[in-house]
Amino acid sequence: MRKSLRPILLLSLIAFAASAQQSLHFDGYSWWAHVKFLADDSLEGRDTGSEGLRKAQAYAVEQFQKAGLEPAGTDGFYQPVHFIQYQVDESKSSLTLVNKDESKHLSFADDAFISSHATHTSAAISAPLVFIGYGLRIPEKNLDELADLDLKGKIVVYLAGSPADIPTALASHYQTLAERWKNLREAGAIGTIGILNPASMDIPWSRISANHNQPSMDLADPEFNETQGLDLGIAFNPASAEQLFAGSGHTFAEIAALGKNRKPLPHFPLAVSLQAAAAITAKRVTSANLVAKLPGTDPDLKDEFVVLSAHIDHIGIGAPINGDRIYNGAMDNGSGSALVFDIAASLKAHPETLKRSILFLVVTAEEKGLLGSKYFAAHPTVPLKSIVADINVDMFLPIVPLKILKIEGLEESDLGTRAAAIAQSLGVKPIPDPEPLRNAFIRSDQYSFIKKGVPAVKMDVGFELGTPEQKIFKDWLTNRYHAPSDDINQPVDLQAAALYEEITRRQIIDTAKPSARPQWEPDSFFRRYAM
Ligand SMILES: [Zn+2]
Repeated sequence: MRKSLRPILLLSLIAFAASAQQSLHFDGYSWWAHVKFLADDSLEGRDTGSEGLRKAQAYAVEQFQKAGLEPAGTDGFYQPVHFIQYQVDESKSSLTLVNKDESKHLSFADDAFISSHATHTSAAISAPLVFIGYGLRIPEKNLDELADLDLKGKIVVYLAGSPADIPTALASHYQTLAERWKNLREAGAIGTIGILNPASMDIPWSRISANHNQPSMDLADPEFNETQGLDLGIAFNPASAEQLFAGSGHTFAEIAALGKNRKPLPHFPLAVSLQAAAAITAKRVTSANLVAKLPGTDPDLKDEFVVLSAHIDHIGIGAPINGDRIYNGAMDNGSGSALVFDIAASLKAHPETLKRSILFLVVTAEEKGLLGSKYFAAHPTVPLKSIVADINVDMFLPIVPLKILKIEGLEESDLGTRAAAIAQSLGVKPIPDPEPLRNAFIRSDQYSFIKKGVPAVKMDVGFELGTPEQKIFKDWLTNRYHAPSDDINQPVDLQAAALYEEITRRQIIDTAKPSARPQWEPDSFFRRYAM
């Protein structure tokens, strides 16, 4: 896709110039220039381990040097990270549902696929299936969907999602692969079939399916293995899920209707069982995080760090859509990386009193499961205890004027409440995540810090439910999210980007100044990690 976008851009620039927003440190132009570099076709979608990502990282290092930042990696600005890449050899793999004497072969394109993210070694398995509802065990809410079920040697089937009375952060946390598997393993399960929830799918199955056999990655070091004992992980198309329930006395239609309204789900053994052969290939891949430092000025506080993080990797080259195979990742997350460069330059050009030091962290392998940040949080290049906060920026989507700021983690720490106050001071209304089912709080790199006890927030340009803006965001997710059209030929609002950068800049300064460190709220679930 090489269609020119000039007219749209021009309009947006004129509108911006006319609006006379004083006191902003940003104009949107430099941000867009960085995005254009990172999302250029020549960088081939910046896949982890690729030449394109290395070019993007060389560009990032250039920006850090220009801004006069100090290297803070283990090898200059770089912190090398080692991975193993897994892929399913589908020519040697199969999934078959068996119901009494009848068996039905599942199609890898239409019905289901083996997730190499959850399946790391080849396996041949034949096992009964049990439907476990959402499959959650949440002690804080006295919810145990695994109670009274015999799961020993079974493959569990669950619907992605959570009951309505579970708060967002908690529901998100317990739906991570690691947390989910911890409980299932304890209960004796050997595999999982996750049915995507039609009510909360960001992208349609046709697009998921088109790229279902892209390789996945995990950190090479065994200390990071969170799926020990998981022999088989499968993702299931909700449109094909009815056959799992045949003969069980229940239908998927009934389950999906309950799931749509976040109602409690029943739990019961299924009449069909699964015969599976999974052939997995593995190879080693190396990539790197980038770490740069702007030293603080206070003798007592300069050894403490406020982290500004953004991932620079994207998903590379994939199945063609409208003839385009390059998944450019302009908003995901060229936009956040560009912001990091802009803020670095701005803090140097218009120095503020930064008592604490700022750590600019540009991570790799976010798209592989937050792996770069997970590695950094486990092996930080400054002492973990010296990190007071993480402000993470990922796909903040300046595609409408910035009037509403969605703050993930708003109610979890004073970092959230202070972000809200800064937004308000600039005439922007702060709101918590209006779409908790999307699990956004655990879906980006802030989560790696949260799990190490570090208060964190992620902010995005937002909308209120039932407004025309909601439809703009919904359409963006359906059509552009993780698609080749998340490229530089899309309309963006440069003024919204500039204002968002200003809010982030002020938040960093605000967090670097006072002597008190940000704190988790007393009732925050995530406080436990800080103990
Ligand atoms: Zn992404």
